[in-house]
Amino acid sequence: MRIEHNGISVYLVLGFHGDKREWIVLTKPDSDQWIPLYYFDPAIDSSSSRDEAIEAVKARLIGEPPPTGHATSSAYCCGKCEARGVRLWRDYQTFLERQTLTCATCIESERVEKVDPDNCDQIGWRVAAVPTPSGKSYWGYTSGPMAAVAWWRALPMREVQ
Ligand SMILES: [Zn+2]
Repeated sequence: MRIEHNGISVYLVLGFHGDKREWIVLTKPDSDQWIPLYYFDPAIDSSSSRDEAIEAVKARLIGEPPPTGHATSSAYCCGKCEARGVRLWRDYQTFLERQTLTCATCIESERVEKVDPDNCDQIGWRVAAVPTPSGKSYWGYTSGPMAAVAWWRALPMREVQ
């Protein structure tokens, strides 16, 4: 069955993963890689009900984007040039209180290579700054739910002049 939440669709079935029956999900419609739902929610197993599985897809796999307007708020702006409404990166493994966010233009000013928009989740020691639903913290690298990651990817690389 297809589940729509926050503009993202995911397919969910109770099917076989290897030789075990599990709730499995397909996150990319053009892929055939079904992933067990317990990867995203350890509370889910083959005895979980359909409603529990749907809820896990919505809450844990797709999740919630940051608050409306967060991309242009003072909480999400480049620490160097104050750019807003653009993709930002944070320092990997730095305490939240000391986080400085940096935009692509400022990162490029420190290095030779251009930032590749299609392959830039990690740039050197920086990772995509994907905010949690409160907007006050960030998801761990590669652990952001789909809606939060989609929010980040939809932001432009540079401020529109
Ligand atoms: Zn900047």
